[in-house]
Amino acid sequence: MTRLAESARLVRERVASAAERSGRPAGDIHIVAVSKTVPPERLREAHALGFTTFGENRVQEAEEKISALLGLDLRWELIGHLQTNKAARALQLFNRIQSLDSLRLIDILNARGHENSWVVPVLLEVNIAEEPSKTGFAPGELREAAHLVADCGWLRAEGLMTVAPLAGDPEAVRPYFRRLRELRDDLAEHVPLSQGAWRELSMGMSDDFEVAIEEGATMIRVGRALFGERPPA
Ligand SMILES: *Cc1c(COP(=O)(O)O)cnc(C)c1O
Repeated sequence: MTRLAESARLVRERVASAAERSGRPAGDIHIVAVSKTVPPERLREAHALGFTTFGENRVQEAEEKISALLGLDLRWELIGHLQTNKAARALQLFNRIQSLDSLRLIDILNARGHENSWVVPVLLEVNIAEEPSKTGFAPGELREAAHLVADCGWLRAEGLMTVAPLAGDPEAVRPYFRRLRELRDDLAEHVPLSQGAWRELSMGMSDDFEVAIEEGATMIRVGRALFGERPPA
């Protein structure tokens, strides 16, 4: 078994037991393989192991990989901060923008969607611990942002995304994941959408995805646990 195959098996085992603890079938939890810094050949290998959704945090890097892998049936999700001047490119490249993190970006993506006659699937990014170093809506700003997105004809709001604070112990971030779920439930109740619902909760990474699944994650974003450590930025 290759290293990647072995890591994939381990991640899937961890997902399955966390799903069981949360009373859901493992198939309900979608794994986004976070492929930043990982070369296309390894993504080909990951695809052969059954991974079909990749997460990238930079438009330029994603563009190169997407064109290198055009023959494969893949989904690409943007998970990093999007500069407004790259919004048009991003909506052509990505199946979904998970990192919708400002009111200005809501306006710009909606306008780009309109120009392209293309409804853009998005998740609102929440800065759940209100860390100054992170982008995303503070919990207190979320309802306003959600109302704005819900009124945008060219955006389809599908849920929330967060990056929890760094912590040595995954239990330390459980309250943040729980809070994101409560925020999602609050939006589902108070910010009706014309199509669909505030369904998705994209939360949990290599070190804490089990806790995120126990707290209701529908989607986890896993990089290092699959592909190994990344080179320093
Ligand atoms: C890099 C990254 C991940 C994956 O992190 P790992 O610790 O490698 O699993 C998930 N989400 C976002 C937004 C990232 O930038």
